[in-house]
Amino acid sequence: TTTPRTARRVLLKLSGEAFGGGQIGLASDVVRRVAAEIAAAVAQGVQVAIVVGGGNFFRGAELSQQGLDRARADYMGMLGTVMNCLALQDFLEQAGVSTRVQTAITMGQVAEPYIPLRAIRHLEKGRVVIFGAGAGMPYFSTDTVAVQRALETGCEEVLMGKNGVDGVYTSDPRTNPDAELMDEVSFTDALVQGLGVMDAAAMSLGRDNNLTMRVFGMDEEGNVTRALVGEEIGTAVTA
Ligand code: UDP
Repeated sequence: TTTPRTARRVLLKLSGEAFGGGQIGLASDVVRRVAAEIAAAVAQGVQVAIVVGGGNFFRGAELSQQGLDRARADYMGMLGTVMNCLALQDFLEQAGVSTRVQTAITMGQVAEPYIPLRAIRHLEKGRVVIFGAGAGMPYFSTDTVAVQRALETGCEEVLMGKNGVDGVYTSDPRTNPDAELMDEVSFTDALVQGLGVMDAAAMSLGRDNNLTMRVFGMDEEGNVTRALVGEEIGTAVTA
């Protein structure tokens, strides 16, 4: 039986780049800070699911350019995301938050397998659920998985935390000084105009399923909490 829900439930997507602080490996200070910001939102009653990327360890597409088989390289990428999950889990637990990691590739000693109904139960009990190993399938990205997990676990919004940028711009702000931050953009416009906020598969999945997404910058302290509790920072991406 499920009880009617009044609590806000959201899915936070954290890129591997954030976990590495722009480098290979783990930037513990960054992960600790993000964990504290998540803990602050959980304390306010927000139900938080998280999908973690792995770009600070391996990206399949990059490894395959070095001559590795693409699918195997993608599995390496997925395993990298699990290390980020465990790091985040540790800092969340240190911050007093109850957590579970669920992975799309089974590894019973370190995490639960991905079981959607169980994930929902954890969320209802106030546990943060961290999804690792992507979709468990090569040729996918963790952005796409973020949308899929949000849909399957009943999250009302996907929050895409970004580094070095605080939302979606009319063009690339790093090359065009006239680029302007948009409050809102449709998935279709973002796709057609190639606004490069996330991969196309994630955007079309979001569009087809009426998902609401928010792209926001994580560099400013407190922004992760703000996004989680529902402040309208960054850019809303809507169907
Ligand atoms: N990956 C995959 N299938 C998935 C999710 C991820 O094959 O469902 C692999 C892919 O090689 C990707 C890597 O894992 O490059 C790390 O994920 P991603 O690049 O999405 O992480 P982020 O860019 O968010 O750090």
